[in-house]
Amino acid sequence: MDSGTERNTSRIPRVNVGVTPRPQTSLPVSSGQHTGTTMSRVRPDPPRSARPVLQNRTGAVKRPFSTKHENVTETKNSALAPPGAKKAKPAPWDMKGKLQLAEERLLKMKETLESSSLEMEQLKKDNKRLQERNQVLEKENKIFEASLVSEKHLHSQMTEKANNLQIVCNEHECTISSQKRDLEHYQGLCAELQEKVKILEEARSSMHKNLMELKIVSSDHECTISSLKKDLQHYREVCAELQEKVKALDETRRSMHNSLMELKGNIRVFCRVRPLLPAEKAKNDSTEHISIANERSIDVYKGDKKIKNSFSFDRVFAPSAGQQEIFEDLAELVQSVIDGYNVCVFAYGQTGSGKTYTMEGGQEQNLRGMIPRSVDLLFDRLEEIKKLGCSSSVEASFLEIYNEQIRDLLDISQASKPCELRNPTSPGGDMVVTNLKVTTVKSADEVNELLEVARTNRAVAATVHNDHSSRSHFIFKLRIQTTNGETGKGTDSILSLVDLAGSERLVDISESDRVTETKNINKSLSNIGNVILALSNKSQHVPYRNSKLTHMLQPSLGGNSKTLMLINISPREECVEETLNSLRFAVRVSECHIGQARRKLK
Ligand code: ADP
Ligand code: MG
Repeated sequence: MDSGTERNTSRIPRVNVGVTPRPQTSLPVSSGQHTGTTMSRVRPDPPRSARPVLQNRTGAVKRPFSTKHENVTETKNSALAPPGAKKAKPAPWDMKGKLQLAEERLLKMKETLESSSLEMEQLKKDNKRLQERNQVLEKENKIFEASLVSEKHLHSQMTEKANNLQIVCNEHECTISSQKRDLEHYQGLCAELQEKVKILEEARSSMHKNLMELKIVSSDHECTISSLKKDLQHYREVCAELQEKVKALDETRRSMHNSLMELKGNIRVFCRVRPLLPAEKAKNDSTEHISIANERSIDVYKGDKKIKNSFSFDRVFAPSAGQQEIFEDLAELVQSVIDGYNVCVFAYGQTGSGKTYTMEGGQEQNLRGMIPRSVDLLFDRLEEIKKLGCSSSVEASFLEIYNEQIRDLLDISQASKPCELRNPTSPGGDMVVTNLKVTTVKSADEVNELLEVARTNRAVAATVHNDHSSRSHFIFKLRIQTTNGETGKGTDSILSLVDLAGSERLVDISESDRVTETKNINKSLSNIGNVILALSNKSQHVPYRNSKLTHMLQPSLGGNSKTLMLINISPREECVEETLNSLRFAVRVSECHIGQARRKLK
């Protein structure tokens, strides 16, 4: 902008109006006149008292408008005084002096006039020149003003443009800074990507190397595979042959296993004496009345005279025997179930003798009872026969018989219809219980879950009906069906695990309900013995129907079945009477031989 102004100013024509150099006398300059190209304003006339002192040609200084009186005094004094000193005024009578003074004054006035007219002349010239210069300057001024207007216009345009440029500039700056950020970001990204590319390249080259190696290995493998295929075909053939042999051997094993079971007896009796419980030990209960001579016999001493009562069974388990030890013999019967035999396991004994503990056991692995262990083993075996091409299905039901009434333990709702016993729908089939929930199960876990439901429901039912689980028979039934994929033949059998009601004889019963209940329990328990005895004696009439329990278990007692009676004994001396009752019952059962069991084939 400034440079523009300078440019325009330089276009103004510079008129140099020269002023004739004035004599040394300083001239008063009228206001508004310019003294040169500097265009500085001229001072106005000073006041009269401050008028400048004029110099004459001789260089003498004099005041142009001094009074007459002053001059006379000066002349007179100058004549007498040394040069530079004031002249003394002539006396009034000194006409000559006065004349001389007047002449001097006149001379001086002439000189003054002369110099004034010269000055006047000079001033006129100066004035003229100044006027001319003034005109020039006015012209210059007009040109300058016109130029100034155009400059101003230009200036405003330039300002506007500058503003616009500033805006654009700001925008550009914003864009630049954002682009700078982007650039930095992309530079970072680029560096990262370069790093990744580097890593990937390394990975690629290592993979390439691996690939090459794998290709070599792969071709080796192809050779191996084709040789293995040949081997496989060979082994398939061998396997098929072996399977045939296994099937034949399995059939032999079954018949040998069954022969062994028969040799052991289709009714087997085990006796288990439970240990003293901590509370019983604390009371110093004695167990001296029981003596286990060996694993097949038990002696019980009774009364003050310690009369010895000896009993022999298939197995006698001491209090120290664990659940697994008991199960080892039962495991053989589980195999028999898969082979197609009905198996029935009873836990018999007075309340508190350990029936439920033996059948169900505790939660810990080593405390698990006969039911969960049988279920586990059963599903393991079914898995094994699957490999031999046999499919299988398992159905589970849980019920209890209380006071000669059947209750479904998987459905204890009030709305559930009563369960009644019906004859089998097919010859050799199982008894039918109406309205009983029968559940198809695929694994041991599923059965264990149902067992938990049944346990809970049994406890609830016991509370609702004001009875105790020890007063009812708990029956867990599994129906197992197997089918051979090749022959279509298979087996259909039942595993019944029964936790019987307490076998104790109740004395002093006053309530009529209790009397009926006890009668029913005694009847059903003694009827098991009666049925077994009748089977052993090959009686015409087997009193199955004398109790709900034997009626329902009819297909699992005798003929087609294997039975295990687990007699549970309390070690407490005060229970000796009930212990002897249980052992006598067990002996009666163990002496029975119910003939050859038959496989039940489909
Ligand atoms: P029951 O069912 O014959 O009435 P339980 O099975 O309920 O008897 O057993 C009574 C008590 O004895 C329970 O506390 C049980 O845990 C305990 N018990 C039974 N048998 C054994 C055993 N072999 N080892 C340890 N405790 C046992
Ligand atoms: Mg019990």
